[in-house]
Amino acid sequence: MLVKIRILSSYWDCIKTFISFHILKMLIGGIAKMRKNNVYIFGIIICLFLSHYAFNSNLISSSKIIFERNDSYFDAQDSNNINLNPKLAQVSGNFSNYNLSVIMDESNSMVEGNLTVDFYNNDNVNFTQIYFHIYLSGMYYIARQGKIEIVNVTDVINPNISFSYEVHPSSQIMWVNLSEMLEPQKRAQFIIQFNATLPDGGIDRANSHGSDGAQSRMYKYTSFYPIPCVYDNEDGWNTDSYLTTGDPFYFDMAYYNLFIEAPNGMKIAATGNLDEKLDKGATTWYHFNPIYPVREVTFAASRYFQVQSRNSNGVNVSTYFLPKDSYLWNNYALNHAEDALILFNNTFGTYPYPTLNVVEEYTDYGGMEYPNQVYISESIDSWGYPLDVDRRLLEKIIAHEVCHQWWYNLVGNDEVDVGFLDEGLTCWSTDYYGEFYYGDWEYFQYTRYIDEVRVYYETYGLSSKINQTVYECIATNTDYYYVAYHKAPLIFEKLRQTLGLTDFLEGLKLYFERHQFGLVLLSDIQQAFEDIVGQSLDWFFFPWFDNIYLPKYSITQNIYNSETQTLDITIVDLNEPLNDYSYSQQLPLDIFDASSTLISSQWVWINGTTQLSFTLSNQPNRVRIFYSNYVLVQLADEYDLSLDSYVQNGDQAIPGYEMTFLLMLSLILIGFVIVEHRRKIESNK
Ligand SMILES: [Zn+2]
Repeated sequence: MLVKIRILSSYWDCIKTFISFHILKMLIGGIAKMRKNNVYIFGIIICLFLSHYAFNSNLISSSKIIFERNDSYFDAQDSNNINLNPKLAQVSGNFSNYNLSVIMDESNSMVEGNLTVDFYNNDNVNFTQIYFHIYLSGMYYIARQGKIEIVNVTDVINPNISFSYEVHPSSQIMWVNLSEMLEPQKRAQFIIQFNATLPDGGIDRANSHGSDGAQSRMYKYTSFYPIPCVYDNEDGWNTDSYLTTGDPFYFDMAYYNLFIEAPNGMKIAATGNLDEKLDKGATTWYHFNPIYPVREVTFAASRYFQVQSRNSNGVNVSTYFLPKDSYLWNNYALNHAEDALILFNNTFGTYPYPTLNVVEEYTDYGGMEYPNQVYISESIDSWGYPLDVDRRLLEKIIAHEVCHQWWYNLVGNDEVDVGFLDEGLTCWSTDYYGEFYYGDWEYFQYTRYIDEVRVYYETYGLSSKINQTVYECIATNTDYYYVAYHKAPLIFEKLRQTLGLTDFLEGLKLYFERHQFGLVLLSDIQQAFEDIVGQSLDWFFFPWFDNIYLPKYSITQNIYNSETQTLDITIVDLNEPLNDYSYSQQLPLDIFDASSTLISSQWVWINGTTQLSFTLSNQPNRVRIFYSNYVLVQLADEYDLSLDSYVQNGDQAIPGYEMTFLLMLSLILIGFVIVEHRRKIESNK
């Protein structure tokens, strides 16, 4: 059997086009002599004719960029053959240094703080100002609004020397005016003195929440100090304000020391190793140090935290949870945190930090990632599921947030511009955790991504381009959550199935090794995979990340010629005109005879609209495309997974013309005769 893939029209298609052109010319000549009403009738008939003819003869000329795939390089590879051989973290280059020192005021859920800034200019531009996010006032609250007040900005050595600065609370931005121009590879130092108040009672990223009576009060200090903005070539200073869609964070790596003075009796979970602890009477002073650069720091405090810890290969893994959820967290949470750490360490590359904390929090989402410390919602216990489901949810969220240590913290990206990148990869990796420990990549998917994605357009009527900023998603009415958390991991899974697990994981390892402690774009992960497989992957990344719609296939030609024993099939992607790029994917194609016996079965590459030709000695009766596994298509019904087409006899009355085409032509000619006849009667009156 021979499989050919051709894009160009056949010889007969050319002749058909020539004949049809002359028929159309005759018709137009007739129309010129027609009355108005008859012209309308003719217009409709011609439209019908053209739409039918266009599909059958592939007149839809595609201006798409076609990345054709028709070789068999990407065979499925043995998924058990994983090379678990990570490389040690390497830190090179210069980073900013920040010393953050805070005194916690429990009754007002605030801190008095100093941020000592030693800012390193890692860009090739001169700075006269340095921008900072002051997010707290943008967050949801119930009892008291969060805020960061700037007290002053002073010189590091001489506190009498002040720096001028501006604060814009509505956009949660401030900037410090430098006393002299900061050149590339140079440093600027100053101290920002501030007071930060947590939003009280809310369930946003930062808050104080719960009650002492119920032993449930905790303080979650996140985004609670002036965090330096990132300057990049695309946007200049990234001064995006706090957003409720997606995670709005984008930070450079920096060395931090975090000093916290808190009332005695508070249990403190914070980013970094506890280097020092000092009893100061009514308060205790702590010094936390992550050792390696991080993108930001956080801490949580509660009098009621129950704490469990374990050393896992040199990393002190700890869980902090409230008494009310001890039944759910006790032992389980610590095991899951360690399982996630071990797997991702071995699969992507080494987690270099000495500590990893998993802390319970109050939120209306599942959890949130920060360097060395992740938060998991306490609300799992109120979602009304049976205990086994709650446990699985807890495990899923822990695996997900822990994974963000690799995809967000160690390898960072602009979460406003390409938030789908770290989120999509984290979701894929969480499902890989399910596959590794439970043998099923869909273990944590209560609705399988594939089922949701295939019928998404039919269900919601919304487009779903992945590669968009959060702002673009809002403007184009794209559901960011769906795109980043469900469609993006599915596309990564499709890539895994296309490349095979070994090459896919090698690609992720290379991506991690190259970009840990740095910032990435979508093109960086593509480049890593390309370097592993040794060829361009534009054909994969461009359509799957940038197209608005999934492919929607139709079999428009399916003809068997018994003389030449050739079956010619044309598969059209009906959504191709709506997208920027042509899709390429492999799908299974079965051919049956009249007694429904399978006479041919194979995987074929469909590159946009594709013509296939098979040599078959048995008379075929029916062709079936089956959307098995991860063939990605737009469907009306998630259970209707096949596309059937009956084979037409190719021994035509006129070679090259199908019966339906001739029927259409006859109808048009009859219509023409009737109209012509009526016109004559009218003119004889
Ligand atoms: Zn996430």
